[in-house]
Amino acid sequence: MNLPEMVKAAGVVGAGGAGFPTHVKLDAKAEWLIINAAECEPLIETDKYLCRTYPKEIIKAAQAAAAHLGAVHTVIALKGKYEAEIKALEAAVEQLGAAVGMFRMGTFYPAGDEQTMVQQVTGRSAPERGLPLDVGCVVDNVGTMLNIAGALDGNPVVDKFLSVVGEVEEPVMLHVPVGTAILDCVKAANPRLSDYALILGGPMMGKPVIGQEAMDAAVVTKTTGNIIVLPRGHYLFRRAELPLASIRHQAKSACIQCRMCTDLCPRYLIGHQIRPNLVMRNLWREPGITDIEEYANTFGDAANCCDCGVCEMFACPMSLSPRRVNQYIKQQLRERGIQILKNAAPKARPSIDQRYTPTDRLVARLGLSDYYGLHAHTCKELHPDTVFVPFSQHIGKPAQVVKAVGERVERGELLAQAAAGLSANIHAPISGVVVEITGKGARISGREE
Ligand code: SF4
Ligand code: SF4
Repeated sequence: MNLPEMVKAAGVVGAGGAGFPTHVKLDAKAEWLIINAAECEPLIETDKYLCRTYPKEIIKAAQAAAAHLGAVHTVIALKGKYEAEIKALEAAVEQLGAAVGMFRMGTFYPAGDEQTMVQQVTGRSAPERGLPLDVGCVVDNVGTMLNIAGALDGNPVVDKFLSVVGEVEEPVMLHVPVGTAILDCVKAANPRLSDYALILGGPMMGKPVIGQEAMDAAVVTKTTGNIIVLPRGHYLFRRAELPLASIRHQAKSACIQCRMCTDLCPRYLIGHQIRPNLVMRNLWREPGITDIEEYANTFGDAANCCDCGVCEMFACPMSLSPRRVNQYIKQQLRERGIQILKNAAPKARPSIDQRYTPTDRLVARLGLSDYYGLHAHTCKELHPDTVFVPFSQHIGKPAQVVKAVGERVERGELLAQAAAGLSANIHAPISGVVVEITGKGARISGREE
């Protein structure tokens, strides 16, 4: 088997983002292999932990991926302040004689956004709604590298490393089977309050999980890298629960056209055509625009929004939400069948290096200063009796279950096979009996009867 075949068999998907199947990404030739260890959002600890703990495995996987891609340059991009991590990785590079460099980034958001990272490392801006590969780059998360290292040894992805931070006794790393209940992870970190809600991922782009029912149903997937525990009444939850109607109303009445949302937008900075202030300015007349061309000309910029949240969480002095407005407009563009032209060769704006959002100021704006700068030094293993394994933990089609209720599975055995097209294999994270199969996933019980 070649590398993409081994990676496909092991069910490796992007560990730090939306879960793009890695075998598809690796089935290419690229000048640059960039390994993303920048921990894009504040409070997340996972990439740092992996760099400190598994540097040799990461570098070995980087060598294999670079050889397969034919990469001329291989770098690990991470924040320059990650001294212990850089030291561990550089020691592994030396020991293995690997041609892998370190690219030190500033402490800003969104350093780990792959298009921002590509621009910082190579000076090239990817096309609008394009891929790093369009400018000769493959970007993979450092957690994905660790899973590639596992795939090289024939080990499928059945576990996940994640940090639990926020209102907990102290931040911790956990190593758990995929499908572990999120609340078991929270309990293992000893939450300091009872009335809490959660964010899965980072505070800017993570998924808020609010209410007992939603928290009970949430499980760890191959892409879960962090859980933030916050008081139920925290600003971030109040903001997430604002209805779209209020957001639209506020946008129409309170936008002062200061343009900060545009000037600080990371996609605007790498040269993409996106000016959220203009979308906000024209929102009042949106319901009356029926002509497709006029709609595209007025609101087409929204198609280039990557949902990073800088505009609403940091830039806007009026606490408006250009991101949510852009999400609404993108939905309208889809429903109306409007295709927006793409600039295939954008050029970064001259101001780019002065306009990125400093992480410490962002953290203060988000009301998270109490939790910033605390690090996870220990890692706990969890061994749950039962897991619920979703069939869709990746971008593309859900995997197709190959086991039936009542069948015994061994840890690492194939549970659901990648569907035709874009999809990924899913393996049993624990040994036990399949006790339930729903449209969404399978429950495995490892309890001895
Ligand atoms: S969320 Fe806001 S800042 Fe981010 S890409 Fe979209 S418009 Fe730009
Ligand atoms: S930053 Fe806020 S007030 Fe300024 S133009 Fe954008 S949406 Fe309007």
